[in-house]
Amino acid sequence: MPDLTTGVRYIKGVGEQKAKSLEKLGIHTLRDLIAYFPRAYEDRRTVKKIRELEDGESACVEAMVADPPVSQRVRGSRAELVKVRAVDGSGSLYVTFFNQPYMKSSLQAGEAYIFFGKAEASGRRRMMVNPLVEREGARALTGRIVPVYPLTAGVSQLLLSRAVAQGLDACADILPDPLPEEIRREHQLCSTDYAYRQIHFPGGDEELEVARRRLAFEELFLLAIGLKKLRGRREEFTCQPFAHTDISDFYAALPFPLTDAQRRTIGEILADLAGGRPMNRLVQGDVGSGKTMVAAAAMVCAVRNGRQAALMAPTEILAEQHCRGLTPLLEKLGISCALLTGAMPAKARRAVLAEVESGGAQVVIGTHALISADVRYRDLGLVVTDEQHRFGVAQRSALSAKGERPHLLVMSATPIPRTLALIIYGDLDVSIIDQLPPGRQRIRTACRSGEGRTRIYRFMDQEIAAGGQAYVICSMVEENDAVPDDRKAVTAYASMLQEQIFPHLRVACVHGRMKPKEKDAVMTAFSAGEIHILVSTTVVEVGVDVPNANLMVIEDADRFGLSQLHQLRGRVGRGSRQSYCILISDNRSEEAQARLKIMVQTGDGFQIAEEDLRLRGPGDFFGRRQHGLPALKVADLSCNMALLKEAQQAAAGLLERDPDLEAHPITAQRVEELFQSSGGAMN
Ligand code: ADP
Ligand code: MG
Repeated sequence: MPDLTTGVRYIKGVGEQKAKSLEKLGIHTLRDLIAYFPRAYEDRRTVKKIRELEDGESACVEAMVADPPVSQRVRGSRAELVKVRAVDGSGSLYVTFFNQPYMKSSLQAGEAYIFFGKAEASGRRRMMVNPLVEREGARALTGRIVPVYPLTAGVSQLLLSRAVAQGLDACADILPDPLPEEIRREHQLCSTDYAYRQIHFPGGDEELEVARRRLAFEELFLLAIGLKKLRGRREEFTCQPFAHTDISDFYAALPFPLTDAQRRTIGEILADLAGGRPMNRLVQGDVGSGKTMVAAAAMVCAVRNGRQAALMAPTEILAEQHCRGLTPLLEKLGISCALLTGAMPAKARRAVLAEVESGGAQVVIGTHALISADVRYRDLGLVVTDEQHRFGVAQRSALSAKGERPHLLVMSATPIPRTLALIIYGDLDVSIIDQLPPGRQRIRTACRSGEGRTRIYRFMDQEIAAGGQAYVICSMVEENDAVPDDRKAVTAYASMLQEQIFPHLRVACVHGRMKPKEKDAVMTAFSAGEIHILVSTTVVEVGVDVPNANLMVIEDADRFGLSQLHQLRGRVGRGSRQSYCILISDNRSEEAQARLKIMVQTGDGFQIAEEDLRLRGPGDFFGRRQHGLPALKVADLSCNMALLKEAQQAAAGLLERDPDLEAHPITAQRVEELFQSSGGAMN
């Protein structure tokens, strides 16, 4: 009898080779297989006559292949076409297959097939390109809602859906349910067995919704339990309170007065440090709100108490930026700083390591290098991580493990609405810096359609001639099932700009496939003003500060989340130059226009996040995974605020009744697994 741990080789049609391919998708066991959820669905319930097909519509037609298929080579390329005509009494359908030469022999004239695909209609002619084809007799997928899975080489949709179907038959009804019966009843959630079957092969829209609701609830419920337990565990710890929290000389040494929000946040931090429990605090503040100084205040306090402080940044550039900014200030206060990054030559590195170990370096600033095995601190009392969403829970705790229960401060520039912060940062206390230092310029934001590009380019040209610099962001194009590749989009766009529009300027690009070193090199050149226009996807490093850059042009702006647009826009407006953000979008839908209008109207990240939440629901916040939490699979797509609250309440209720989950071992185990799988996996 197969069980959940049985390997996928059990499935008919999965041999050694296919099993290897499935492994690449993280599918090893039957359990993994049935927990591999579709990323989308195709509704193949509409079967139409050829003549009824409308332009752009996805539908099935039943038709007979009229003539033997013919194959052609596309001149000047290696692509091969197979063309075939199919008829159903109402008209002819002209079908073209690209790069599927086998179609020539698998389609027989005189036989009936079902073609599913997007129709093109022009006049009376009806066409389909690369439709999916099923033999009329087989009909496994027609007339149903069909799952669409993320794929990898060697694994087709058909293989996966057949394998999943077998997997479900083998073990859907022995799946243990992590939701206690009473909670399931109270919140009207379907059984696991039903949920798993319907999420793969929904009988209809309602059934799918019921399944999703249950699975999303389950994820949020387990997440809430895990976070509550983390928080509970922390409250049991005690540590030596920091005795000296007077840092008035720090305030006096600053070149500017702190904002009220900065002061309030520092007050909250100092209270934590003196409280006798390890601090675990998140500081959320919009880009430019001055989080670094808040971190500096905490570090000064740690040093004054005879302890070391470490500040970890996600990239070398950021670490160096912090070091350059903080060292003069801290040295004025008699505090010694050291920089530790992966790129340092061995000799310099050894010297720094010695300083860190002896305690000669009181503040250590660096990248992941701070958590390498050979780094020993004399007495690490405070750990600060900057742009925390870039680090997983695991990396945070690896740095903490270098000290004896050090205080932890995490800083994030991603505004999260208060309503969500509670769950997303369930294991942290939250301070919010909701105020920018005075005198900041507002970034002028405009929304334009693609037709305005010529004028936009001309404007860029003027601004650059006047000494500015520009970012151009293009969105990733997801082609069918392939993992999105930003390299192509970015390099093509950059060379178009360079060759056709701005031959007299220097255009460069960064993308996600570049090595960190290469990326840093380009960013450094941009920083130094050697590059005028930087084309990239959203990999433009969060937190990077190029004050001279004053133009942000975002292509296909409607494809980004509002908070993401806000982050991108935050790359400009950092210097004295008037800055501009131009959102290009050809999406005329009311929703898209409403969202972009918010960007034009406000520069307040929290307000934008609230609006985003209102318009799109919380799924999007989870979806973007900028919070170092376990990846959610279903809640990403279908979570709403009400469900989130329900799940949170249910979790709180259960922990009240059974704090150690002794009576709920399945729940306890799933929570454990969820948090284990997130270890270090973020970003
Ligand atoms: P972020 O919150 O994005 O990390 P930073 O800490 O990098 O922001 O601060 C952005 C800029 O604002 C820095 O140049 C910093 O020196 C400056 N700054 C910080 N606080 C103040 C303040 N209270 N008044 C004026 N300038 C400030
Ligand atoms: Mg910062």
